[in-house]
Amino acid sequence: MVVSETIFSKIIRREIPATIVYEDEHVLGFNDIHPQAPVHVLFVPKRPIANTDALAASDAEFMGRVILAASAYARTAGIAERGYRLVMNTNPDGGQTVYHLHVHLLGGRPLSWPP
Ligand code: AMP
Repeated sequence: MVVSETIFSKIIRREIPATIVYEDEHVLGFNDIHPQAPVHVLFVPKRPIANTDALAASDAEFMGRVILAASAYARTAGIAERGYRLVMNTNPDGGQTVYHLHVHLLGGRPLSWPP
């Protein structure tokens, strides 16, 4: 499923404000508006796709770029050595609220498990 319009599309087009902390050709990273940890950044592909349930085999490289963007940012933010968590919520039981695929990067404090 391709999702044409969400609040994240508007952030990508700079139509609504966000604190953008990472950008490359394919991926945008911006602070979550309701942070759950000292570092809480959302990494979104500029190409809209709903969630991991919508991924195809041909998206393997594209999905890798999103993960690599998050891990690169975690190193520059200085949280990689102590550790962090990447989360992708999918569909209602997964707690997804915005249907534009995104990776949550959470870190800067110890994170409990199970969440
Ligand atoms: P999810 O529940 O996994 O779909 O995550 C959506 C996330 O988007 C939530 O953590 C929200 O706090 C965050 N969010 C919603 N609107 C905005 C916004 N305008 N700017 C930044 N983060 C947002």
